[in-house]
Amino acid sequence: MSTTFKIAALAGDGIGPEVMREAIKVLRAVEKKFSLNFQITEAPVGWAGIDAAGKALPDATLALCRQSDAILFGSVGLPDRDPTIPKEERPERAALLRIRKEFGLYANLRPVQLPKALAHACPLRPERQGDGIDILVVRELTGGMYFGQPKKTEDYFHEEPQVDANATVIMKRCQRAIDTMVYTTPEIERIAHVAFKAAALRRKKVTSIDKANVLENGVLWRDVVTKIARQYPDVQLEHMFVDNGAMQLMLKPTQFDVMLCENMFGDILSDEAAALAGSLGMLPSASLGKATGELTFGFYEPAGGTAPDIAGKNLANPIAQILSTALMLRYSFGQNAAAGAIEAAVGKAIAAGLRTGDIYTPADTSAKKVGTREMGDAIAAAV
Ligand code: NAD
Repeated sequence: MSTTFKIAALAGDGIGPEVMREAIKVLRAVEKKFSLNFQITEAPVGWAGIDAAGKALPDATLALCRQSDAILFGSVGLPDRDPTIPKEERPERAALLRIRKEFGLYANLRPVQLPKALAHACPLRPERQGDGIDILVVRELTGGMYFGQPKKTEDYFHEEPQVDANATVIMKRCQRAIDTMVYTTPEIERIAHVAFKAAALRRKKVTSIDKANVLENGVLWRDVVTKIARQYPDVQLEHMFVDNGAMQLMLKPTQFDVMLCENMFGDILSDEAAALAGSLGMLPSASLGKATGELTFGFYEPAGGTAPDIAGKNLANPIAQILSTALMLRYSFGQNAAAGAIEAAVGKAIAAGLRTGDIYTPADTSAKKVGTREMGDAIAAAV
């Protein structure tokens, strides 16, 4: 297997550049330790792209992504600048959604882990946290309600019966919005394979989320997932309605290993699950596309946004960005040992009591409040 990997590093806006700097620091430490060769090229995206080249996803940045084996992304968008330009040119739409589409990123993986040492950061009572929470949400990313056609807002005549002797009906002009939920069998099959393969490497359980009691999509989803499960006899499959899934995440999150969700349910449940980890600053994510040869193209980013409230102050938690590099090494480059080394180094920094502001509590007297840079240094040193 090749040990040279081309990485496009797109830091973006807000805290993006600060946390990306720490992630690259950690990658350089891993590169040395595991005799790998990372060709990391940085390029502007988001408002940084607009300022540098007039577009949220400049052509040169997109070309770099096409020539790379994986994209390491920060985050984009600034709430005070976004409303000043048309919606379709804004960074999240013009850069993020464009990249998802361009590279066919159909699988979104969001690991949510709450280490015991950070129990205080979790909104649930300690007895609900068991021995620590460890869930992987696998979300379908390119189908369902967010992309189905027709998708539009149109004029509509609404029948309004009048309370009069003639029972007159007035046609009242209004508008109606239409979104379409649609899934094909191959779309469900390929995301199900991702979930079962991931579960096989973990605690071997998939909880498939649907709304089969109401939605046609839910019935097909359940059928297809059940069929794919037969190819993974070592992995246990259970089905759960999405409303119950949302409730169970709060009542007993430790029952979940891999949660397999369609696009919209995954969007909502992955944020709910994220809340269990206490801070967005701890959560990485991976979006995977097609495999070519031995590499799977992937896009890796923290779950949070640009956090303008703390940007440029050395306050951001770089762990989400650093753990995103671990996912990149595991899922795109097949470097499991190196990925594990990064995760272990993060564990060491936490166990040593280092805390950025978002995960710090004065009640923990053994904890030491540190900045973005110090956390990155400690993790790189622990690698
Ligand atoms: P946000 O995720 O940026 O911030 C929400 C809260 O979480 C803030 O209090 C922030 O300080 C905190 N936070 C987030 N990441 C953190 C970190 N690494 N360390 C410590 N604290 C952290 O969400 P928002 O405020 O709703 O959005 C701000 C901007 O980011 C908006 O322009 C939005 O459109 C954009 N955004 C981009 C992405 C992306 O690029 N993928 C995702 C979400 C939001």
